[in-house]
Amino acid sequence: MPWENLLHDEPLSAFGEVTPPVFQTSLFAFPDTNAFEHAMTSGERPVYTRIANPTVRAFERKVAALEGTEDAVAFASGNGAMAAALFSLLGAGDRVVATAPVYAGTHGLLEKLLPRFGVEVTWVDGKDTEAVIAALPGARLLLLESPTSYTFELQDLEPLTAAARAEGVLSVIDNTYGAGVYLRPAEHGVDLVVHSATKYFSGHSDVVAGVVAGPEALVRRIRSQGLVFLGAKLAPWEAWLLVRGLRTLTLRLERHQSSALEVARYLEGHPKVQRVLHPGLDTYPQRALAKKYLHGTGGIFSFEVADGRAAKRLADALEHFRIGVSWGGHESLVLPLASQPRVAEAYAFPEGLVRVFVGLEPPEVLIADLERALARLG
Ligand code: PLP
Repeated sequence: MPWENLLHDEPLSAFGEVTPPVFQTSLFAFPDTNAFEHAMTSGERPVYTRIANPTVRAFERKVAALEGTEDAVAFASGNGAMAAALFSLLGAGDRVVATAPVYAGTHGLLEKLLPRFGVEVTWVDGKDTEAVIAALPGARLLLLESPTSYTFELQDLEPLTAAARAEGVLSVIDNTYGAGVYLRPAEHGVDLVVHSATKYFSGHSDVVAGVVAGPEALVRRIRSQGLVFLGAKLAPWEAWLLVRGLRTLTLRLERHQSSALEVARYLEGHPKVQRVLHPGLDTYPQRALAKKYLHGTGGIFSFEVADGRAAKRLADALEHFRIGVSWGGHESLVLPLASQPRVAEAYAFPEGLVRVFVGLEPPEVLIADLERALARLG
């Protein structure tokens, strides 16, 4: 774990500051055309904040160190990062093998946008390693998300990336769950690692951001095309907040993990709960795969209410947990998946499935809240 990179920043000025300055400027001016032309061609000095900004660069460097990749490029959102990667790497006539069920925003990109530009998508159950491998010949890109963010299904990354490499297929993973701490996909052969930095990297529910990490040549391509032409750049102030958030990433994750496991174990023993989908539980069907790839499990999981129709009533009866779509911040959330229209449109999950995000509150407060709300279901 490269903790030094999370805590330490090289000063950007001569003053020895311990946090990077916020370069809140849209452009960087030059004294003469020679200096300007040199900056444009060499990339040694920033020219325009859509393309490069030192505060954003400080965030990108931290993520590359965290993921153990050569470089990273930041975006205004996780979906912006995924879109920039896919639009930079794919063209008409290409085919993507996508493992279901990916995040609904990624699903929309693959189902609603890319086909309009001549990109074909083959959907495969991500748990079925043989089926994913069988779909690879002739494809350009393999899209992974492990664990998935609704039902926490894992993919067996090493055989998949080995097969993809053998077929000349680029592999891309959404690693928002693993956050570079609990899963480092580059170590398992994945080419590009995409994050919604909105979640654990921010950690305080006050930023929307994304980032793609990978080998220098691929990141350069995504920066020079997806970032420069699609233009979804990260703002310097938000990059600064992310640099700050990353300093406490491992501490927060440890707390999310221990509290979420306590809450999950409580729910597992409750008669009104049919099953708990949490890769850290011994009862989890893919527990062996979780042990193979995950160094930890974080704060998010799902459970199914035995009486499916009661899921929304349960969410409404909770007093401490609030209802919300995102995760990774300080506050605990629940989301009956049937209430999220884009998720419900993409996937027919059971009506009783509720996603839980366990924040930084004392777990006993959250368990008492669930206890009260479950008792009220009658
Ligand atoms: N990937 C996952 C797993 C997510 O949960 C989300 C957002 O909820 C995204 C990607 C998209 O990120 P953003 O909302 O930052 O665009």
